[in-house]
Amino acid sequence: MKIWKHFLTITEHKILVMRHCFRIGLYRQGLFHDLSKYMPSEFIPGCRYYQGYRSPNNAEREDRGYSSAWLHHKGRNKHHYEYWIDYSLEPRKGMTGMKMPNRYVAEMMMDRMAASKIYKKGRYNQHQPLCYYEKGKDGYMIHPETRALLEYLLHMLDKKGEDYTFAYIRRYIVGKKEYPRIPDRYKARKEAGKEMGSKK
Ligand SMILES: [Zn+2]
Repeated sequence: MKIWKHFLTITEHKILVMRHCFRIGLYRQGLFHDLSKYMPSEFIPGCRYYQGYRSPNNAEREDRGYSSAWLHHKGRNKHHYEYWIDYSLEPRKGMTGMKMPNRYVAEMMMDRMAASKIYKKGRYNQHQPLCYYEKGKDGYMIHPETRALLEYLLHMLDKKGEDYTFAYIRRYIVGKKEYPRIPDRYKARKEAGKEMGSKK
């Protein structure tokens, strides 16, 4: 049981997300981000499966066949697109990703940046959050418009950097009811009944 090390890892991440959130004017979410990681259902498996170089959820998955900590986490934290998976109104479609409100898309972005920074330690650069996303995106069950907005922000960070992206999110996303207008090439499109985000 690596209690202290796990505590430091999740706390370091939480503080970094908080700093990012404060820069975009997301104060309440910055304070409460990932608080459920300190509850026994997530904290205990986190200590038991602590490895240091990757998420303990992966180790728990390999050992038990599922991650009880993650199942507990994703049901309570709205900045994960997995929280927003629900039954579609179209009966045949089954479960699908619902459109995430602006403020949680913003928090998801801050979470991804902080996770890349901590994972890469001193070797972080602004291209890594996009790179990480590109590796996993095909498996995402996420609403096409939310996917398009997330991709737009990740490409913005990749090309224009952190200061520009923070300023954009603060101005056009946080506190806004509707998603911002984004270039056509990022817009969601449907292909053969399957929801797809734009590639570039
Ligand atoms: Zn989280």
